[in-house]
Amino acid sequence: MTLLECLPQAWTASLDSIFNQPPPAPTSHNAAIELLLSHTKWLLPHTPPQQQPQQDQQHQHGAIQSSPGPLSLSSSTFTVRAATNFLMQPSQTARMEAWQQCTESAITLAAPTQPQEETRHTALAITKVLRTRVRQVWRLSWENNRKEVWWRLLQHGVVGAGGHGWPMKRETACPCGWQHSAASPRAAQALQLREHVFWNCTGASAIRRAIQHNLPGSVQLLPRHVWLLEQP
Ligand SMILES: [Zn+2]
Repeated sequence: MTLLECLPQAWTASLDSIFNQPPPAPTSHNAAIELLLSHTKWLLPHTPPQQQPQQDQQHQHGAIQSSPGPLSLSSSTFTVRAATNFLMQPSQTARMEAWQQCTESAITLAAPTQPQEETRHTALAITKVLRTRVRQVWRLSWENNRKEVWWRLLQHGVVGAGGHGWPMKRETACPCGWQHSAASPRAAQALQLREHVFWNCTGASAIRRAIQHNLPGSVQLLPRHVWLLEQP
């Protein structure tokens, strides 16, 4: 006698009413894939557009595209590129958000308030071209460890410069004497630290003076020129 059979029948009947019986095992290749995909957010080929969640409609780029016919691993729409793009979508979204934050920061630089709507639009336009710019920089014949600093700056990932949202420890200051606002939240402090290290700190100021010295006198060097490689 199994343990289940030892239980009072009313108990097992009550459990049956609460938990559905597991679905029968799929008997074909396509049925198995459809069962697996139905437990993900992947769009099945036969999903009518009106039944697709709103969020999924906004992120269809690179995902499995809707098309008639059964989905199978031999389907021309089920490519490695499509599947990889789909799996990488959260990382790409996070990267674009980090770039947007860096671009807004470069435009406003230490502004105590949230960027205005116009600033956001300007930053968004710059952020969209960053993808191409990053590829161009990465193709330069230069040691990657030097290019990586810029790549990390864009994504707020420079350790010691607020990277990963880590501000300086309490009661500490930059060697130049600067301290971030103690009243600000930690995330804002980390952004202030990035702005300081890459713009106002002693070393950054010396580099800015050298760049400014080699520009025409009428050109004012701005953070967006240095951080985002915009032409002055
Ligand atoms: Zn400093």
